[in-house]
Amino acid sequence: MIQTDYIDVSVTLPLDNTFVYKVPDHLRELCAIGMRVLVPFGRRRVTGYVLGEQASCGPYKAKNILDVLDDHPLFPVNEILFFKWVAQYYIFPLGEVIKTALPTGLDRQDVSCVFVTLAGIKGLSSGTLSPGEACVIEFLKEKEGCTLKQLLKSSANPSIVALVRKMEKNDLLTVSAVLKREIANIKTEKFIQHSGQVPENNIRLSRKRQQILSLVREQPEISLTSLRVHVPTAATLIAPLAEAGLIKIIQRKVFRDPLGDPVEPDTPPTLTDEQAILIETVRENRHKGFVPYLLTGVTGSGKTEVYMRLVADAVKSGKTAIVLVPEIALISQTERRFRARFGEKIAVIHSMLTHGERLDQWRKLSLGKVSIVIGARSAIFSPVEDIGVIIVDEEHDSSYKQETGLRYNARDLAVVRGKMQGCPVILGSATPSVQSYQNVRDHKFSQLTLERRVNQNPLPEITLVDLKKYKDFRGTEKIITPELAIQIRACLERGNQALIFLNRRGFATFPACKECGKSLNCKFCDVTMTFHKDQDSYNCHLCGHTLPAAVNCPECKSKKIQNFGFGTEKIEAMLKSMFPDARLARIDQDSTAKKGSVLRLLKSIRNRTVDIIVGTQMLAKGHDFPYITLVGVICADLSLSLPDFRASERTFQLLAQVAGRAGRGQEPGRVIMQTYNPEHFAIESARRQDYMEFFNHEAPFRKALMYPPFTRMIQLKISGRDEKKVAQAVEQVADVLRQLLSGAPEIRESVQILGPIEASIYRISSRFRWQILIKSPSFLHVSRLVNAMRIHPEIRAIKQVTIAIDVDPYSLM
Ligand code: ADP
Ligand code: ZN
Ligand code: ZN
Repeated sequence: MIQTDYIDVSVTLPLDNTFVYKVPDHLRELCAIGMRVLVPFGRRRVTGYVLGEQASCGPYKAKNILDVLDDHPLFPVNEILFFKWVAQYYIFPLGEVIKTALPTGLDRQDVSCVFVTLAGIKGLSSGTLSPGEACVIEFLKEKEGCTLKQLLKSSANPSIVALVRKMEKNDLLTVSAVLKREIANIKTEKFIQHSGQVPENNIRLSRKRQQILSLVREQPEISLTSLRVHVPTAATLIAPLAEAGLIKIIQRKVFRDPLGDPVEPDTPPTLTDEQAILIETVRENRHKGFVPYLLTGVTGSGKTEVYMRLVADAVKSGKTAIVLVPEIALISQTERRFRARFGEKIAVIHSMLTHGERLDQWRKLSLGKVSIVIGARSAIFSPVEDIGVIIVDEEHDSSYKQETGLRYNARDLAVVRGKMQGCPVILGSATPSVQSYQNVRDHKFSQLTLERRVNQNPLPEITLVDLKKYKDFRGTEKIITPELAIQIRACLERGNQALIFLNRRGFATFPACKECGKSLNCKFCDVTMTFHKDQDSYNCHLCGHTLPAAVNCPECKSKKIQNFGFGTEKIEAMLKSMFPDARLARIDQDSTAKKGSVLRLLKSIRNRTVDIIVGTQMLAKGHDFPYITLVGVICADLSLSLPDFRASERTFQLLAQVAGRAGRGQEPGRVIMQTYNPEHFAIESARRQDYMEFFNHEAPFRKALMYPPFTRMIQLKISGRDEKKVAQAVEQVADVLRQLLSGAPEIRESVQILGPIEASIYRISSRFRWQILIKSPSFLHVSRLVNAMRIHPEIRAIKQVTIAIDVDPYSLM
């Protein structure tokens, strides 16, 4: 309900300002802060977000809003300040920030459906409802759910909206966002209730029917699914019972469980001493409000248990908790562990959910029906109030950085939101980012440490194999060296599992023509195609373009394309022929493209129905598989040669993480790492699993070359389809930047403009790409310069060229 005549609205257009609109009387009751409204803008109608009430419209004439698009706020009032901070920091229009923050798939076609709940039905039969409430339930009972609009229309009650909201809060009904497209997907289920009637003597009941009746009598209501567990044929038996008036059948919407699998509740283990001390530290600091912590703990040291205890603390004191985990860990075990501990108290947000499911989760959160959200990066925008703790697991993970549109980093935003909320923020990792560890050094973060694995096992022993030794070998030995093969064999003989890691998918990664020597490149991108045997085609990993396996050389038309280079698919084939009796599974983007397939593969590892797992970095993330005792790294150097100042950091993290998958159960683990650079410090410190050695080597290098965390950067990513226009625009941008800089003596000394240069992959999907890097020890200085550039008339006049602003860039390619 809006109290004033006017509201402040942020529209979903690339504009920085908010606008004042008038709320006509008939919409005032429906409208609230945090909802979407339809507003006229110029000659268009656009979606806007209600950010506040306004007493007047100032000197301008305000237009009326046209419609209210939600029946419940999508975000709480106190999140608006956070949105504004994000917009300013990432130099991104406020309306578009909010749009990014909200679940995708919201559009004007969405409808809200109302469903009656068990409590609603019970209330009706026991007469505890108000007359108004009873009227609504009566109306709904007849239907298998109806749209909110239908309900509102059918009622003569002037305050029906407020009533429905109150009833939703009290669990008498649920309102669920249903997308028109997904309407066929609403999951409803039959629930059976006893009617209270006693069977007349002349009705003959079979034993099965009697059994059904007695099951139904035991509880207020039972789902058909549960009935079937006892009486498999229940579905056909209930209809006659209902006809005889002995039972009632109700269709009701059920929330989809994205995983389908039941999760057994767990009992919290006794904490180890290390865990207990650490949790006590956080508790003692609670009165301080916002405290950012970096929790460093070797792989398998029990960090997740610590997170769960801190979340439990928050929930116990009536607060909420946000838990961020990398996408892939979510759909498997981290979610399971949280479910086992917190049951129905959690909402889960990740990309495997359908739009409808995501909206349902969002809604549960904003209604305060659940207090814990566990999700991938976008969960940092969850509509929760009064946050008690924010957790970021595997804080070094690059998936926290969004690389399109609003290029935010959820790890960094976790700290910002925690500060605004005055709650502790825990960033955890076995291999912290250089950024976060430097924050510990600078006393911005407090460090918490877990030094030992819970099972007391030592970290796995890591052996390096110098690939240079096998350079001139032919055949498989070059790729799967005898050292690795011996260990795989030994591992299999003991009945354990081996994980073979290569961060490159496909069969052959470097197809080239035997006649003319040219590599087979993508038509639209400056990269070579990858041969995929499974699909019998060459695929471009950047744009998805494919060519048939029988393609001729585009240069000389010869048929002789040879497939050099190797990826996971080829490793799988090699292992199959080396170990014909072993059961193999491959986990990479290709093998997991179908919904549900990751889950199935992960399950097969857990249930030990596979012996050798070949995988990419998907497998390096936070999994806990107790029977993996051997990890083999096919080529440790792949990420080392990338043109990126974080190449060493990524290599170290990836290797230390993947090594950490070994020996998490009873038996100790072992790792074979094949490399061309055994003497490189990133590889050597990964071998020793020595984070400090890595950091102490890396930090001075960053400092000397003025890279983050010792300097701040904004990268401009400039691209377009017309090569000439892009090149022109790039020059213009650079000119404007230099002009602005020379006109601002107070920042001139500190700011450095590097480039423009062509991006290291110059063309992707037919777009030509350039970059300009702006560096300064002062974030304010870089930010000021880029802001001024953005609104410069010459820049605004640039057409058909995209200028993306990447604040704290992660991928420099
Ligand atoms: P990390 O997240 O640090 O890699 P995990 O939290 O996955 O480590 O813990 C590793 C294993 O130890 C898990 O199987 C977990 O259930 C178990 N664990 C954690 N804490 C305890 C404890 N206090 N007592 C017994 N087992 C524990
Ligand atoms: Zn050729
Ligand atoms: Zn391509």
